[in-house]
This record gives sequence, C-alpha cells and structure tokens, in this order.
Amino acid sequence: MQIAIDGPSSAGKSTVAKKVAQKLGFIYCDTGAMYRAATVLAKENGIDYGDEEQILAKLSQSEISFKPSEKGQLVFLNDEDVTLAIRTPEITNNVSQVSALPKIREELVRQQRKIAGDHDIVMDGRDIGTTVLPNAEVKVFLIASASERARRRYDENIQKGIMTPLAKLQEEIEIRDYKDSHREISPLTKATDASEIDSTNLSIQQVVDKIVELANN
Ligand code: C5P
Repeated sequence: MQIAIDGPSSAGKSTVAKKVAQKLGFIYCDTGAMYRAATVLAKENGIDYGDEEQILAKLSQSEISFKPSEKGQLVFLNDEDVTLAIRTPEITNNVSQVSALPKIREELVRQQRKIAGDHDIVMDGRDIGTTVLPNAEVKVFLIASASERARRRYDENIQKGIMTPLAKLQEEIEIRDYKDSHREISPLTKATDASEIDSTNLSIQQVVDKIVELANN
C-alpha cells in the first residue's frame, strides 16, 4: 500500500508520516529531505542555487538515502550524513529555488519512485499524490493555519536553542508557501482524490489516527 501525504511547510507532515509508518510497519520517505540534500549538494560544490545543469550533473552521480538510527532517521548524501546540514536556515531559505528547477524535480521524482519500488510506504512532500505516486491508495492533504505552523516551528526551535522571532518564522513560512504553490512545475496542489485534514486544532495523535483509519478502510 502507498500512502501519500502532501501539504505546505510545517503542517506536521513528517512527524505524522513517521508515526503512521511506524504504526503500520511501512517504510517512510521524506521527499523534502531529498530536495534539501540537493540544495546542500549545490552549496558544498559552490554551485549557484539556480544553476540547473550543474546541480543535475552532481545529483545524477549522487545517491540520497535514509538510514534508521536510535536518534531517528538519518539522511545521507552519498557517504556523508547530512541530517543536520539540511536543516540550516541557509538551506531552508534556498530549497524552494532548487526545487523549482524542472530537471532537478525530474531526477528526484525518479529516485523517489525507485525508493518506493513495491514496498508498503508512507511518502510525504508537495507532489506525492499528484505526481510521484498518483496511484497511492491513500492520499492526504495536510494543512494548518500559517500562524499555527509558525508557532509549532517556534517551539521546535526553542528546544534546539534557536531564537528566531515568531513573526519572522511566519513570514518565512508564507514566502515558502507562495514559492511552492506558484512555481511552474508541480506546484503544491491538492490531488482531486485526496482527503484534506486541517491540523490547526488537532493533536499529532489525532491526525495519525485519522490517517490510519483511512488506510484501514
Ligand atoms: O518538507 P520540507 O519543508 O522539508 O521541504 C523543503 C522544500 O522542498 C519545500 O519548501 C519545497 O520547496 C521542496 N519540496 C518539493 N516537493 C516535495 C517535497 C519538498 O518541492 N515533494
């Protein structure tokens, strides 16, 4: 079975997707981490974030993979553990530029379908239900208000000792939403057959339960 979870930044997709995968014994693929890893690849090689050909040349010779660990799922770019590097503000603020490059999307969609293979999988992102796994049995479009998403990111940051003001986080989220839903290729859109879940007033567990119920029906 394939479960596709799409939605805007910081709506809780990856937290929920991980728990759904755990509960059902499925593998989990975080496609946002793959676009972030491609952005790290550009940075490490001194390639401009808009230089499609050069990023593609490096990306097509690279493998992005996920490995379970006691600290949670680790993200590897070839042999390098980039789990922390993909979450820095520089990468977060530039990933939308890299993810808008058509050839980069084509290459990562190819890698995502390869990871899915014929496994039972939960995959989260922006275009999973529409493009990557259009035949997924369960499709969820997870949303939450921008202010609630900023508040959640703020709380997460505080735990990591990052002190970005709430208003700035909300502004960054809104900018990323705008870029992700206005790009020419695979803009963030709800698949016509997706179930929309608004998590603004729901706990993580309530969202997980709703998705597991969709999978069991
Ligand atoms: O989910 P996350 O916030 O980590 O994703 C980072 C960025 O990667 C998004 O803002 C978006 O630009 C891009 N992305 C995408 N398509 C996906 C997953 C992520 O364009 N399937």
